[in-house]
Amino acid sequence: MKVRLANPRGFCAGVDRAIEIVERALALFGSPIYVRHEVVHNKFVVNDLRRRGALFVDKLAHVPDGAIVVFSAHGVSKAVQDRARQRGLKVFDATCPLVTRVHLAVAGHYRANKEVVLIGHAGHPEVEGTMGQYGDLSKGGGIYLVETVEEARTVEVEDPDNLAYVTQTTLSVDDTARIIEILRQRFPGISGPKKADICYATQNRQDAVKALADTCDVVLVVGSPASSNSNRLVEIARNSGTPAYLLDEPGQIRPEWVRPEHCIGVTAGASAPEVLVQQVVARLEVMGADQVEEVEGKKERVYFPLPEDLL
Ligand code: SF4
Repeated sequence: MKVRLANPRGFCAGVDRAIEIVERALALFGSPIYVRHEVVHNKFVVNDLRRRGALFVDKLAHVPDGAIVVFSAHGVSKAVQDRARQRGLKVFDATCPLVTRVHLAVAGHYRANKEVVLIGHAGHPEVEGTMGQYGDLSKGGGIYLVETVEEARTVEVEDPDNLAYVTQTTLSVDDTARIIEILRQRFPGISGPKKADICYATQNRQDAVKALADTCDVVLVVGSPASSNSNRLVEIARNSGTPAYLLDEPGQIRPEWVRPEHCIGVTAGASAPEVLVQQVVARLEVMGADQVEEVEGKKERVYFPLPEDLL
């Protein structure tokens, strides 16, 4: 059995920064540090930070007065930012700068009286945060969420000649391109980024898993079920005709997935740590893997600095 490891895989610069923000806050101020929502969508990472004194809450209302709170890498709405300010909470914002870029675009469209189509997944915290950058809806105009090609075909806006689009950062590059194409056909004046707001890390991991799926019998994606970009990696491998499975930890590998004659591709979503990938490889070795190779891929050199008061 052969194991091929995708490159790049695992942590991106935004996830690295978000985890480091919680770690630095714990080191400088001690426990508890409140974190609104899972700082990144990975069970191992969240459990590790919880053990070290981080308290994860779903709502700002669960953060006591005077406490320190970290906003997750997915970003938050303006309303959450305002409430934290009004309550005088000390906030460290771990929103990925690439998500912030989308937030600024939405706020700019609002100021320019443009309506916005947001391409993304309902219920994902990044989508909630981005929708919440569009200002006062009572003034008219609006922001519309589109999840699928079908929704792109049917979405109705108030002012089609004054429309922009933005996207969630962790979508499937190919699915999003199809949605944008339909929006451009229906609303020729729509403005937006050249392709989409999909980030470099999502793009690179999707390219890498496509190449992996073409040369392997099965693909294992290390990542948590809540992780959008990990789920996209599974879908992309399956769309290439290769069976693919998402797993949070090595104990979830089922014997029937892997056979002695198989080449097993392994990758990891942007929020999954390398330690889990190595545990998966070790488990596959116990199951009969006798060759492990790294696939050459794009080198990533992106780094996002920490907030100044945590340096
Ligand atoms: Fe930022 Fe992309 Fe990583 Fe999300 S996946 S944290 S947008 S770099």
